[in-house]
Amino acid sequence: MPDPAEQATPGPVAGADGPLVCLTFDDGPSAHRPRTLQILRELEVPAVFFDVGMRVRANPDLVRFAAAEGHQVLNHTDTHPALTSLTPVGMREEILGAGRALEDAGVEVPFRAVRPPMTAVDDVVHAVIQVLDYLEVGGTISALDWHPGTTAEAIRDSVLAQLAPGGVIVLHDGPADTGAGSATVEALPGIVAGVRESGYGFGLLDETGAVVPARYVASGQPVPELAAPVPYRPLVVPEPEPPAPWVPMP
Ligand SMILES: [Zn+2]
Repeated sequence: MPDPAEQATPGPVAGADGPLVCLTFDDGPSAHRPRTLQILRELEVPAVFFDVGMRVRANPDLVRFAAAEGHQVLNHTDTHPALTSLTPVGMREEILGAGRALEDAGVEVPFRAVRPPMTAVDDVVHAVIQVLDYLEVGGTISALDWHPGTTAEAIRDSVLAQLAPGGVIVLHDGPADTGAGSATVEALPGIVAGVRESGYGFGLLDETGAVVPARYVASGQPVPELAAPVPYRPLVVPEPEPPAPWVPMP
């Protein structure tokens, strides 16, 4: 199990001497992912992607690339249901299905961790995750960026107002059930600048869920383009539609 601080080739040390936060993106890979990866590369910020199995199968190149750049790719279930709406068997299938999708994409997860969609958890969900020997990961800083009505400025300001040592910032790489996402990408450079101006560095997660120092890895590979339409669940906010190409989930 590689320590995120040790798996990297030489690069800028991210906040080794100061407080850290961790940038996480849920629900991808979406049509926004190539731009997000490009910005993270330019700013040398390592991040965590909690990806959805159905979207990993659609665009595995983006997931492989993210891992090659030193980002952590972890599990956000297979089709992004509320786990609390499922039987224990269904919960297990959702978590293991996404795990298989990552494995089939050629991604070696740094450790087994899942972030339950929509923070929908109860005692049964906790127990199933524990039995599967997964770490359950939440977040401490969020910005309503899954809603298309939230502006880039509001996302940035909300994140920066909540900074605290060890904070885990939850953003979305094209939410699974709304057409939002472009404002998050637009907000990203300002978030990175504001975090750094506040004296924080960007870390990654360890197998206990703590934020630990990390370095950015430049793979030297070009950022892949979107190769296939991105699957979406039924939209909970009808407008705008997600960026093309997209398809309703099978
Ligand atoms: Zn989600």
